[in-house]
Amino acid sequence: MLIVMDRTATAEDVDRVVVIAEKRGYKAHPIPGAQRTAIGLTGNQGAIDPDAFENLPGVMEVVKVSHPYKLVSREFHPEDSIISVGGVPVGGSRICVIAGPCAVESKEQTVTIAKAVKELGADLLRGGAYKPRTSPYSFQGLGEEGLRILADAREATGLPVVTEVLDTASVELVAKWADCLQVGARNMQNFELLKRCGQTGKPVLLKRGMSATLEELLLAAEYVMAEGNQNVILCERGIRTFSDHTRNTLDLSIVPAVERLSHLPIIVDPSHGTGKRHKVMPLSRASIAVGADGIAVEVHHKPHEALSDGPQALTPPMFAELMAQIRPIAIAVGRTV
Ligand code: PEP
Ligand code: MN
Repeated sequence: MLIVMDRTATAEDVDRVVVIAEKRGYKAHPIPGAQRTAIGLTGNQGAIDPDAFENLPGVMEVVKVSHPYKLVSREFHPEDSIISVGGVPVGGSRICVIAGPCAVESKEQTVTIAKAVKELGADLLRGGAYKPRTSPYSFQGLGEEGLRILADAREATGLPVVTEVLDTASVELVAKWADCLQVGARNMQNFELLKRCGQTGKPVLLKRGMSATLEELLLAAEYVMAEGNQNVILCERGIRTFSDHTRNTLDLSIVPAVERLSHLPIIVDPSHGTGKRHKVMPLSRASIAVGADGIAVEVHHKPHEALSDGPQALTPPMFAELMAQIRPIAIAVGRTV
């Protein structure tokens, strides 16, 4: 924590801050400057409460310089992390494209879509066997049968599988079948689930909660990593705002913000981020342009028959067009697809 004093602050104001900091058990280091004095605080175990200093006479600003998260931070690990999902690298110079249906509906549906996206250049297959649905009456997923179908689709295409784990009780089962455990937006702060996923050692695709700040997202990743599992991929999937022209507001500004603070790869999900297929292509282009390490898109060969998220699913020909459109953008930003 750094306390920046006002230009008009007196020596007494500075002393007051030092005394209060020391009373709270911190070490205060006044750093006099040409214009103003700043006071560095160290020796804190956890985060320092800025409220104790913000309103003292002569204090202009309280700036956090150390973060509550450690393992996710660039300070801890300056190089970009590259996470291997079943041998496919996520992070680094190559853009990773995750594609597949929202939900596993049948073997025929999943294998058909998996073959189509593989043929068109996808790197990983997505598809939910356990679906977090807003309504309890909506299709909830095929459960374990869905996991077996995903394994069949992997067998048929060679694509490693990313699939959602909804609760602690099914972590082991999902980890047995999947190459990457997806923790969905609604579970981003399910701390027990995060810990259990951390214990499996499997890569975790951690989706941003729909009202989560960047710091909350990074702390959620920290839960997984604190269990000894460093294989975390972050995912922006849109947040809830007042805008109603789109299912969620895709916050692409989080991509460079993450890159500054963390070594973890971050991908973007423009399907859930927008909810409408006509928006998926332009926001996929934008995701690559802004520096995302990959995208996750929903693809269905018969979107009008899809049991979930049909309106945002691309058909295979649309996915082919998406791949063609993102390639030159990747090259323009020094990446490949
Ligand atoms: C999904 O990717 O299948 C999903 C349910 O997404 P989210 O958790 O972002 O809503
Ligand atoms: Mn979906």
